[in-house]
Amino acid sequence: MKTGFNSGAIEVLIVLMGDASPGELAFLPGCLSQVFKVRFKTSGEVVRLPPYAYDKTRRQYNSTLLLEYLALSNPGGYAKYLGVTEADLYAGRLNFVFGEAVLNGQYAVVSLHRLRPEFYGNPPDRRLFEARVLKEAVHELGHTFGLTHCENPECVMHFSNSIIDTDVKKAQPCLNCQVKLFRKIFQQPYKRSELNS
Ligand SMILES: [Zn+2]
Ligand SMILES: [Zn+2]
Repeated sequence: MKTGFNSGAIEVLIVLMGDASPGELAFLPGCLSQVFKVRFKTSGEVVRLPPYAYDKTRRQYNSTLLLEYLALSNPGGYAKYLGVTEADLYAGRLNFVFGEAVLNGQYAVVSLHRLRPEFYGNPPDRRLFEARVLKEAVHELGHTFGLTHCENPECVMHFSNSIIDTDVKKAQPCLNCQVKLFRKIFQQPYKRSELNS
């Protein structure tokens, strides 16, 4: 962990929604802390998926409704909340989404469904799965910290149209996005040498 930052009291809660497995996601808080330089904690309580957010015809959950539900069931006390679910998600006119977040807001949600190699007919690969989960979690949380989509295909804030885009990008924001991110998080000048590349 690099020094020189003062993240104050910012803490993010990871909320398992539905049947997401705590053991499988145990790596996530530590990895997210390294990217954002703030504290992450996983909630001991599992939030159930609201039946009204389920579209029977599509067999998918509406991610916007899940964000609203996360806000309603908010236990309080955290700066941001990241919902993680096994459910396949859609939003608006998009036939699926890897996740959704409120820009400059408190809530983000990520789906594990299309991040598993098995979904694409490939054998299970834990390292690949974890890398994808981290990238999508950083991407959606990046939106809550005010980051918009970035044109750099290697930047975590690049929009993923497909899993190939996710696999191409890194788990870190590019330097330009990091400047915006840490200005937002720390609201103080930073040294460029302290940023991750
Ligand atoms: Zn996005
Ligand atoms: Zn970027």
